[in-house]
Amino acid sequence: MAKKQFKTEVQQLLDLVIHSLYSNKDIFLRELVANAADAIDKARFEGLTNAEHNREWGIRIVPDKENKTLKIIDNGIGMTEDEVVENIGTIAKSGTKAFLKQLEESKNADAPELIGQFGVGFYSAFMVADKVVIETKKSASEAPAVRWESTGSGSYDIRESEKSTPGTEITVFLKEAEGLYLEEWKITEIIHKYSDFIAYPISTPHVKVNDDKTETVEERVLNSQKAIWLRKPSEITDEEYQSFFAHVSHGQGKYAKAIHIAAEGTSEFKALLFIPEVMPFNIFMPDFQKKGLQLYVKRVFITDECKELIPDYLRFVKGVVDSGDLPLNVSREILQDNAIIGRIQKAVTSKVLNELKKMQESEPEAYRKFFKEFGKVLKEGIHTDYTNQEKVKALALYESMNTPAGEMISLADYVKAMPENQKDIYFITGDSRAHLESNPALELLRSKGFDVLFMTDPIDEWVMQSMFQYEKKSFKNVTKGEFELDDDKEAAEKEIAEAKEKFKLLTETLQKKFDASLKEVRFSSRLVDSPACLVGDEHSISPQMERLFKAMNQEMPETKRILELNAKHPLIAKLQSMAEANAADAELDMYAQLLYDQALLAEGSPIADSLNFSKNLAKIMLKSLE
Ligand code: ADP
Repeated sequence: MAKKQFKTEVQQLLDLVIHSLYSNKDIFLRELVANAADAIDKARFEGLTNAEHNREWGIRIVPDKENKTLKIIDNGIGMTEDEVVENIGTIAKSGTKAFLKQLEESKNADAPELIGQFGVGFYSAFMVADKVVIETKKSASEAPAVRWESTGSGSYDIRESEKSTPGTEITVFLKEAEGLYLEEWKITEIIHKYSDFIAYPISTPHVKVNDDKTETVEERVLNSQKAIWLRKPSEITDEEYQSFFAHVSHGQGKYAKAIHIAAEGTSEFKALLFIPEVMPFNIFMPDFQKKGLQLYVKRVFITDECKELIPDYLRFVKGVVDSGDLPLNVSREILQDNAIIGRIQKAVTSKVLNELKKMQESEPEAYRKFFKEFGKVLKEGIHTDYTNQEKVKALALYESMNTPAGEMISLADYVKAMPENQKDIYFITGDSRAHLESNPALELLRSKGFDVLFMTDPIDEWVMQSMFQYEKKSFKNVTKGEFELDDDKEAAEKEIAEAKEKFKLLTETLQKKFDASLKEVRFSSRLVDSPACLVGDEHSISPQMERLFKAMNQEMPETKRILELNAKHPLIAKLQSMAEANAADAELDMYAQLLYDQALLAEGSPIADSLNFSKNLAKIMLKSLE
């Protein structure tokens, strides 16, 4: 016998499970049964190529009131000693730290669901157990059976076991207060609720009282085992959908929409897909991206994670695809570059996008809720799925300058509201509505009543690199490039040429002072009230994108910006006279610095020397009060 220590993160998790989780303990049984079903899926998959592994598949739940134990017995794949140590003693997933932190913070609220979602379901047994014993024998292996035992504190014991049949038997030694889980009605309730669709019989001994008062014990099957995706939508209850969703999403709360596909013709498959109600916490972690959908072939489980069935930008969709065309012995390698899978992905993508469109048209409120959760992910498709780009564009929603905070419009809404003299679709990117609203670059458009799309997701700027047009209208970033409005083009050009002449000295003085960070100082037609603003080149990256890249430790050359001045602002004329009197004047230098710093602040960028800024500001306040 060997005594082994749990890995630190496992022990942390166990401590949390044992000491902090008290709500919805029922899910421990769901998790153990799901593991048992997974183990049978795997054994059955092996059995396809090796008939000797075929047996009557099933899961048994056996309560023992005398000893206060609950056994969950499966005849699935089993584990070797190494596998037990690897699978039960460590957590292989990345992002464990973030997960533990979230678990700790959420405490009772969603904690058990998070456990399932993170794929560490086995440990949930310690919510109700003083001790857990695993006896397991790997099928198709000469390796001896293994017995694992732990009370969940610090260490576990592992040794050889007598178990002679393949599969796994988990014995949960229930805590004094958890006797409820020995009751047949309770076990039945949990299996109905969570595990009804599982494709193998889940049974428990049922004590039957005969007419002559004697008792016989018979094995009673608790689940219907119906593959829900093969049934008619009209015959499926909301509860059935919900419990199936809990299964395919590893307990991700509620689903917002269920989508059935029954495809015939070039590719034959059935699918049941779900759009969840809320975003899973790990959707931006690399692990999540790998998951995809469950794949069955003619009702036989193939894999839990077929990434190839759905494009990355729809990765929030969970569910199952059951193909009629694929061979049963399809391997993971084959899946990666398979024409049938490719066709399924195409059909799945198109169906999901159509359903979202329908939802957008007929249930705008529900759609908005959906988009607030998943829009950030969906929009990736504009950049990555060229074939469906127009469809995804039409699904995008944005806040805008002319809509109240929190409300969103589509590109179609935007274009419909465009006045006749507006040519382009205007947008601005930044990290919050508040920052964007105060950007001086919006002033002229605001004065004309033109709307501007507010793009506040970090991904928006990246997405906009492939968004050139919508309904033949070009997109124009309000803070990039030259700015011209068609109607008064000539007049504006003339004004700018004049200003250039008139304020030449000031422009040169500013250019000299800020040469290291400014590419150009020029006159602008986009300002109305402010004296200056900062903009970028047509194809430059924005300061917030630059900060984002830096935060991801990417090498970034400093992008030089353009300072635009408002020739009509009296401050500019004043500064020009100061420069004419003495271009090296210390006071002029201070004003120049302030002008530049407030332009930085107005676009939501940090200023280099905030202490100096405050000092200068105080100086000016004092002067104006004197
Ligand atoms: P998950 O099932 O999400 O991977 P768990 O903590 O529930 O996480 O289980 C860890 C691993 O232990 C499983 O991935 C599986 O390899 C193994 N395991 C758990 N239960 C069984 C079982 N009944 N039979 C075979 N292997 C099992």
